[in-house]
Amino acid sequence: MPQAKVCFIGAGNMTRSIISGLIKNGYPSEQVCATNPSQPKLDALQADFGIKVTNNNIDGVTHADVVVLSVKPQLMQQVCEQLQHVDFSNKLVITIAAGIPAKRYQEYLNQPIKLIRTMPNTPTQLGVGMTGLYADDSISDEQKSLCQTLMETGGKVLWVEQEDELNQVIALAGSSPAYFFLFIESMIESGIKMGMAEDKARALAEQAALGAAQMVIQNQDLSLSTLRNNVTSKGGTTAQAVETLEKGNLRGLVDSAMHNCVARAEEMA
Ligand code: NAP
Repeated sequence: MPQAKVCFIGAGNMTRSIISGLIKNGYPSEQVCATNPSQPKLDALQADFGIKVTNNNIDGVTHADVVVLSVKPQLMQQVCEQLQHVDFSNKLVITIAAGIPAKRYQEYLNQPIKLIRTMPNTPTQLGVGMTGLYADDSISDEQKSLCQTLMETGGKVLWVEQEDELNQVIALAGSSPAYFFLFIESMIESGIKMGMAEDKARALAEQAALGAAQMVIQNQDLSLSTLRNNVTSKGGTTAQAVETLEKGNLRGLVDSAMHNCVARAEEMA
């Protein structure tokens, strides 16, 4: 485990997820800092994980070896411009913001920087996240390895060769937990309409989702259609349900959702 001093700019949901993974995996809390304009999120992070906190981005960044930019994309330019007088020559910058191309950060910070773009998702907080990573040729293997080690505390990582592949990572992993939440939510609502108590409907739907994911992961040699066919007897209940989803064009809807997700990421660039 590297002992680099890591400073997170912005103490929102993603920062909390990643810090939670880091600390659970034994990263020394005194090596981790977070900054935020308002105090309550900082107080909560300090209480929960024992990390250092500050309202002053420049202070936080000055003392860090690794700077993780974790503010909303629309605030990124303003936040970086405030850091222009900090010397980044010995720092690695990691950004988790959607959409903004790597070259833009050099302009915002007004100096050459070593930057790795990452696209994590929220299950990172449970150690079952998925993070896409992109670095250009100027990033050393050591810096890549440091970034990978940090992000792996939250789950799996996948390096992409081309920067624009990160937009597909957003559609497949960054945003996709929300699609599954919507699917499970819809199942629970339907269960309730059929007369089942909400807690029972949730218990059934969530365990089915977990089981289905585990079956996919543990049966890499089987296609998804084989797994589906294995639980679908001709003329049976599952066949009836799956046919309804197919006739309602679930695949088309998912395809549109993912294309719109990528289009939005491209717009934000
Ligand atoms: P968030 O919860 O809104 O967190 C952003 C934080 O930045 C807030 O705590 C905000 O503080 C703080 N902030 C605002 N202005 C600041 C400034 N000048 N200096 C320092 N901190 C400042 O957002 P998030 O969901 O964690 O997303 C953070 C980044 O992760 C975004 O760029 C997003 O694209 C990316 N991302 C998110 C997900 C996801 O699933 N959520 C997945 C992948 C990547 P206040 O609230 O106090 O204003």
